[in-house]
Amino acid sequence: MSKEQNSLMDKIVSLSKQRGFIFQSSEIYGGLKSAYDYGPLGVELKRNIMNEWWRSMVHEREDVTGIDASIVMHPKVWHASGHLAGFSDPLVDCLISKERFRADKAPKPQKGDELPISCVDKGQAKAYKEAIKKRFEIELRRNGKTLEGLRVIDEKTFGFFESDSDVSANTFPYAGYVGPTFGCPFLSEERQFNLMFRTQLGPVDVLNSISKFMEDNREADSKTIREGVDSIVKESAVYLRPETAQAMFVQFLNCQQSMSMKVPFGIAQMGKSFRNEITTEHFIFRSCEFEQMEMEFFVEPGTQIEWLDYWRDKRLEWWKSYANHPEKFIYRKHDADELAHYADACYDIEYEYPWGYDELEGVASRTDYDLKKHAEHSGAKLSYFDQQKEDPKTGKMGWRYTPYVIEPAAGATRGLLVYLLDAYHEETVKDGKGNDSTRVVMKLHPRLAPIKAAILPLVKKEGLPKIAREIVSDFFKAGINVKYDENHAIGKRYRRHDEAGTPYCITVDGQTKEDGTVTIRDRDTMVQERIPAKEALRIVQDRLVKS
Ligand code: ATP
Repeated sequence: MSKEQNSLMDKIVSLSKQRGFIFQSSEIYGGLKSAYDYGPLGVELKRNIMNEWWRSMVHEREDVTGIDASIVMHPKVWHASGHLAGFSDPLVDCLISKERFRADKAPKPQKGDELPISCVDKGQAKAYKEAIKKRFEIELRRNGKTLEGLRVIDEKTFGFFESDSDVSANTFPYAGYVGPTFGCPFLSEERQFNLMFRTQLGPVDVLNSISKFMEDNREADSKTIREGVDSIVKESAVYLRPETAQAMFVQFLNCQQSMSMKVPFGIAQMGKSFRNEITTEHFIFRSCEFEQMEMEFFVEPGTQIEWLDYWRDKRLEWWKSYANHPEKFIYRKHDADELAHYADACYDIEYEYPWGYDELEGVASRTDYDLKKHAEHSGAKLSYFDQQKEDPKTGKMGWRYTPYVIEPAAGATRGLLVYLLDAYHEETVKDGKGNDSTRVVMKLHPRLAPIKAAILPLVKKEGLPKIAREIVSDFFKAGINVKYDENHAIGKRYRRHDEAGTPYCITVDGQTKEDGTVTIRDRDTMVQERIPAKEALRIVQDRLVKS
């Protein structure tokens, strides 16, 4: 990240704390790594994002229904989905630096590319040069803090080349990627790690059974002990869901039958997911506990690519519709080697974060893999019968098939970070004394803004607070979140609400008592208009609908 980009993230982190969007979890105890709490403004922003998603995905559609499933599901769900066996990312260790990283996220130099090993300083470069010499019997050339001489020969091999030679002096197996920090291609085999959080269901402490087993097997070897403990733990083990999606497959029949849904139709859910991520990074971008907004859209086999394109465009448009910089949202098609084994096509909706383009939402064509797996493991008939369609195999009316699935899977908390980045705006304005000052404005979309309007008596006397409180009460009755605020000079209050992203400030002043009007100030333009106090609610409502 460049200095400027770094500073945008720093500003977002600091404003999030100051204004009450996001706090470090358990901060007074030193904080918990990569866990965050959504503060007074953050909780509103998150709910607004999720409510807008629900509105567009469920309420405004006849073909989508919603559910809210339990976070802890039957462990067989995760056997069937493959998560227990494969909910893991291949991890690799750099043999020289000992850096551990996810293979699928590592840089992938191609045939003919040089493989410079970039060290932190000269001392480290010398140490790594020695380590490589000792272990692989080659002497890399040191150029300051970089080690040179390695090059990719083909997909499976890299070589060591003397400075004036095109013929490799030694060759080594190439994994197709290098360590992200140092660029080193000397790597361990890939290993699987389970990313699901495991816990035990039931009030009986599993430690009692384990200690009893240990006492009864004092003489046993370590393999027997491990297997014994493992089987005790597994008896009552359950998992925190690593995605919300599986509940929609498991409840496919109940939703379809209770709501008489006809294919194509979708089931949507939003809520918490948990992953023991190896690297948590970029503030709330990747954390262990996060919220997702996912929908499984069941379609007739053969129509999936059409629907994939439909949902890709629909979802991209949705993200853009709340943004100040829609051009920063793009989609990217997965290459064949990136596709999950069950998917026949996939797009990532990406945002241009300060560190570059990265994922915000995945839109995947998951074939009939999930329903078939759950049918196989549970014995339930997870299929659909279409009376109006001819069975392509028999040519007879009535076709029973396992629907194919398109899955738009978005991160709600990641989306919140995106909208904070998108909203952050600084401009130079004149202060009361005519000097230049920096105004920070969170240009959040009015429907996402945590507080829709601030109701401000100009002074705390002369009956103005009473009038302001009456306006507040009108808004409350209409279910609109506004805040009464009487502390500090009016200019300071405007600035505070600019930073909170409050789109409108309604000020009650001396003139209100004379003619019943108030001012309404627009956050982005700072333009103030006089409107009848009685009209304030309707005007804000209108603007929210039109925004
Ligand atoms: P990534 O490659 O960025 O880890 P993923 O491809 O594993 O994400 P999916 O399983 O497709 O993610 O999950 C769908 C969405 O859920 C992602 O696009 C992202 O917005 C969100 N998400 C996934 N993992 C996390 C996490 N650890 N923290 C925050 N959001 C996440």
